[in-house]
Amino acid sequence: GALFAQMLVEPVGLILRWYDELQVAQVSLARLVGVREIETEAGEDHVRPEGRDVTADRVRFGYHAGADVLHGVSLDVPAGTRMALVGPSGAGKSTLGRLLAGIYAARAGEVTLGGAELSRMPAERVRAHVALVNQEHHVFVGSLRDNLLLARTGASDAELWAALGAVSADGWARAMPDGLDSEVGSGGRTVTPAQAQQIALARLVLADPHTLVLDEATSLLDPRAARHLERSLARVLDGRTVVAIAHRLHTAHDADVIAVVEDGRISELGSHDALVAADGPYAALWRSWHG
Ligand code: ATP
Repeated sequence: GALFAQMLVEPVGLILRWYDELQVAQVSLARLVGVREIETEAGEDHVRPEGRDVTADRVRFGYHAGADVLHGVSLDVPAGTRMALVGPSGAGKSTLGRLLAGIYAARAGEVTLGGAELSRMPAERVRAHVALVNQEHHVFVGSLRDNLLLARTGASDAELWAALGAVSADGWARAMPDGLDSEVGSGGRTVTPAQAQQIALARLVLADPHTLVLDEATSLLDPRAARHLERSLARVLDGRTVVAIAHRLHTAHDADVIAVVEDGRISELGSHDALVAADGPYAALWRSWHG
């Protein structure tokens, strides 16, 4: 029974996740396929970020008509800081990440980006300043150039090569028969999962958002490719404000600040050392992960 239920439920989850992704991708996708740009949601044109910090002020949120998943979260991520969100499965880490990235709107409370209220900014401006990064990277059917231009329409070839170089993807890209004109995606040459992730990182370099929300799902890559990609990612993160959803505690260890999310609330906030010394929820999580 349980297995059958799971078979029914899983595709639905998958569709919901795709739907999230599509909401993020729709503007750029419209650009790729040449249809008229999807109308920008209403926003006040004068509302723009004046800095690179991110805050949440008593944010409440629930999915659809469901009960609240976040029960009044307040956070302050100073410019250039790396914050890790840790906590039990289902606590609301990914949900909070999606709110900070402007993918969902809060039911109550407010998220600000550089002092500007996210709910009052035009959606396109939100997307220019904050990006959600996860491991579901889509390489669209088309040329490598088309796939990169999604992130910045009108970028020159030199800029595209620089972005590929910044994520160490220029080697294999230059080795392809038609360079930037090479077909990638399922229509032509299908890139490897590691190359797809590099294309996604190169897009980030081109889009250049000052804030990144990083949802580190368990890696699908072999350890060597994963290490290689981590180095590229570290370069992309450099200098940006980062909120990393750490599903594995070891990646939280060297964040500037760790926020523990439990049952839709922040229960603890501090550095790894301070939280271990405090001997609270984080210390308990840490012990459970380290035998
Ligand atoms: P994990 O570490 O397992 O990813 P998490 O802390 O990131 O967990 P969330 O994924 O934010 O937790 O989930 C918080 C709650 O919201 C859970 O009860 C989850 O079932 C629910 N939830 C998450 N995504 C959706 C969605 N797209 N639609 C409806 N409910 C959702």
